[in-house]
Amino acid sequence: MHADHLCALDRAIGDGDHGTNMRRGCDAVYFERESLSGLPFDRAVETIGLTLVMNVGGASGPLYGTLLIEMGRQLGKATHNEAFSLVLRRAIDAVARRGRSQEGDKTLLDVLYPVQAAVARQAGLIHIADTATQSAALTAGMKAMRGRASFLGERSVGHVDPGASSCALLATAICHYLEEYGPL
Ligand code: ADP
Ligand code: MG
Repeated sequence: MHADHLCALDRAIGDGDHGTNMRRGCDAVYFERESLSGLPFDRAVETIGLTLVMNVGGASGPLYGTLLIEMGRQLGKATHNEAFSLVLRRAIDAVARRGRSQEGDKTLLDVLYPVQAAVARQAGLIHIADTATQSAALTAGMKAMRGRASFLGERSVGHVDPGASSCALLATAICHYLEEYGPL
């Protein structure tokens, strides 16, 4: 359902495969769910990242993969009192380095950084989910500076970025899960 929508967004300013890429990644992680459930949380997060890098073609695989690999490593190193927002910040910075991109370039970073800021100010889960959704919508007003969409230049304006959109879907799904079942 979401895959079709993400492919449609990517057809407008890319090559139309973002939903397919995300589904391939989710399927690969689902396939490994039993071995993942036996791992400590930080190792599970890192392993999911490695699975995404290995299974997802396109820019989004290595980028989401980097996010989770770095998040897992930072969680493993974090002291007990270290805020999750710091872990998240370091992981997002690793994505920015990998993509040679920054906030405002019309990418998934335009959802990740606002979400991180909301986590840092200890916003509630519903507010974090709203931040993610609204941030993805705001990418429609941006000109793409990185990835395939950047080839369109000004013509990328007026379209929501597919990666920002998938990121908002993931963030809202995580928030709703936590709202329903409490912290992991
Ligand atoms: P591809 O562009 O290789 O077909 P996808 O369609 O799966 O890969 O993913 C496209 C998304 O990846 C974009 O919408 C954007 O959010 C993100 N993206 C692409 N290149 C970069 C980059 N250099 N930095 C950050 N994000 C990027
Ligand atoms: Mg694509």
